[in-house]
Amino acid sequence: MSKVMSSNLGYPRIGENREWKKLLEQYWSKKVDVESFEKQMEDIRLNHVKKQGDLGVDLIPLGDFSLYDHVLDTAVMFGVVPCRFHYHGGKVPLDTYFGIARGMKDASASEMTKWFNTNYHYIVPEFSGSEPELVENRPLALYREAKEKLGIKGKPVIIGPFTFVRLSKGYDEADEYAIIEKMVPLYAQVLKELQEEGVDWVQMDEPILCTSISKQEVEHFKEVYKVLKQSAPEVKVILQTYFDRLEHYKEVMAIPVDGIGMDFIHDRGENWDALRRNGFPEDKFLAAGVVDGRNIWRRNLVDAHSFVTLLTDHVAKDRLIIQPSSSLLHVPVTVRKEDALDQALKKGISFADEKLKEVVILTKALGEGAWGVQKELDESVKSIAALHESSGNKSDVGEESPLNVRRGSPYSIRRKVQPHLPLLPTTTIGSFPQTSEVRRQRMKWRKGEIGDDAYQQFIRGEIKRWITIQEEVGLDVLVHGEFERTDMVEFFGGKLEGFQFTTFGWVQSYGSRCVKPPIIFKDVNFIEAMTVDETVYAQSLTAKPVKGMLTGPITILNWSFVREDLSRYTVANQIALSLRKEIEALEAEGIRMIQVDEPALREGLPLKKERWDEYLQAAVHSFKLATSSVQDETQIHTHMCYSDFEEIMEAISDLDADIISIETSRSHGQLIHIFEESIYDKGIGLGVYDIHSPHIPEREEIITHIKRSLKVLNPKQFWINPDCGLKTRGITETISSLKVMVEAAEHVRTELLVKNER
Ligand code: GLN
Ligand code: ZN
Repeated sequence: MSKVMSSNLGYPRIGENREWKKLLEQYWSKKVDVESFEKQMEDIRLNHVKKQGDLGVDLIPLGDFSLYDHVLDTAVMFGVVPCRFHYHGGKVPLDTYFGIARGMKDASASEMTKWFNTNYHYIVPEFSGSEPELVENRPLALYREAKEKLGIKGKPVIIGPFTFVRLSKGYDEADEYAIIEKMVPLYAQVLKELQEEGVDWVQMDEPILCTSISKQEVEHFKEVYKVLKQSAPEVKVILQTYFDRLEHYKEVMAIPVDGIGMDFIHDRGENWDALRRNGFPEDKFLAAGVVDGRNIWRRNLVDAHSFVTLLTDHVAKDRLIIQPSSSLLHVPVTVRKEDALDQALKKGISFADEKLKEVVILTKALGEGAWGVQKELDESVKSIAALHESSGNKSDVGEESPLNVRRGSPYSIRRKVQPHLPLLPTTTIGSFPQTSEVRRQRMKWRKGEIGDDAYQQFIRGEIKRWITIQEEVGLDVLVHGEFERTDMVEFFGGKLEGFQFTTFGWVQSYGSRCVKPPIIFKDVNFIEAMTVDETVYAQSLTAKPVKGMLTGPITILNWSFVREDLSRYTVANQIALSLRKEIEALEAEGIRMIQVDEPALREGLPLKKERWDEYLQAAVHSFKLATSSVQDETQIHTHMCYSDFEEIMEAISDLDADIISIETSRSHGQLIHIFEESIYDKGIGLGVYDIHSPHIPEREEIITHIKRSLKVLNPKQFWINPDCGLKTRGITETISSLKVMVEAAEHVRTELLVKNER
């Protein structure tokens, strides 16, 4: 009997009760001191390692845990710190670490963007400071920690040099090779020290191999990994890929490493095809991702077992490692406590812990024979059948919808009949601070301590307060503030048919911010108006226009766990049709501006360029399905943030929204260049200040930002707004920041008018 191994690529760091998040926020608000913070974090970290060991995982990842983000961890371990933080070598202090992530006095935060096609945001490393050097061998420290404290010999996980450099900025594209060359000796040093410590396995994450990279780049991989391998010949290096098929299979197989990790879930069968056709190198381990690391459905273990058995036609059993398709960072911790869920649903899903159990069962089935785990295999099939039974209908509505997806008139005509506003109109993105009082009242209402009426009165009170504030601040287009919503997707999921909610199913989105993605397991349908009450109430309080505020179909889709028995596009169109009804209801009540947020549109973009068109066309179709039935007079807004938009501006324009607001302040205005070359003719706001930073922006900063935008955009189309919703900010800082923004807008407005008169 030959031993098959089980492995994990990464475990959710937030903890079963989000203890990680809570601790982090306590530290930031100075409620715990540094020693206690570090000690408690160590406990959480070690607890996760131990838990995986108890579940029976052979290769336990180390270094997946982080105090904020693992890309940032990689950057600081190499001393890659933006120059504005005045860092001069040595281990990066904790406050600088958090400063890079969140901004600090005199130094703005680094850009934050989405990790491939997920809703996890990483901090973009910037090569603008001193030369990179190895200032702290993190993997080594973590390896020692787990070994000494738990007696566990873990598997350090490191973001590989190609992925690390590609995801960074602060260098010219042409210099990328040179930067990688600079990084190689540092990585080599890390590996060498790990070898001296007696480390057996290292996982080098190179998901960049799943994007559309060239053959020549893969050749470069070969050279670099040869050097790395030579620096630590005894360490077994697994080159780990995920989220799609790896590109240039044959060439990748020739990279001199000990194992290749492949995703057999999100590859559309293409990794398997390539492996079957080309074989797998005898001298390598295959780390096979056969349990979905990103969705929550229980794995059909009979199918999975057949699949891994097929793999053994090409790979010796003792060269096989069974694992999830990616890090489990993207799923919640455990289903165990989800008692409020529909029973069939509860049995039909797996979170991180359950997924690791699936991995361990599959490993046993393959290594020792299926008879030992037959019961578990059968049970998975039964549960999935029961789940599908309970999901009921499978409707194709909307796939080939006969409904019109075109606005009545083109933008140039519509704009003339839409609400009249001053030059450079000011507005916000939708949400206002979700204070502890707002959360406390919601809690009470949920627990039944206060009734519907009292809760509604409370929400109305907040709306009224903020309408007054917005008028005093002098904004031109107001919002109701989203006080009734915890999360922009959760809220709509709770009101539409077809969704279910977990109680503890949190997933990290960025920093300490976690989201609880709803589960779409049935056909989605509109039940009743979802936002009309609050919006109409807000509008009744002011003569200024109030924007209705909805979350778009693609964002609801991408931020939910979606059933797999229908195509994702069908599900998106079901959502779009429901939103269309909501928009019509708002319009019927006299709301003249409706914003349909699509912050997740960009993140859903496939890793492979050749698949972009298909995705974007479907996404645009869904958006238009939701938004196109309104009158010319009704202004449709949309909003997007925290992604690179340069490459998809055409699709964004195709959405045909009258106004779009896009975040640009964190990327320090990079996007603006695109408007030098291509013409964007509709209304547009490029967020003028960073809402993720607790600092109040300076008036001059905002003026500079606006003026820079006006070099390439017409003042008649330009809007002034913060770069995202304000719900994570405090009340006073929000008001102060908005005042500064309005003053800045007025300043530029006056200048423009004076210039015009001359
Ligand atoms: N309207 C939402 C808000 O203001 C948009 C949030 C987002 O883009 N993520 O909170
Ligand atoms: Zn946003």
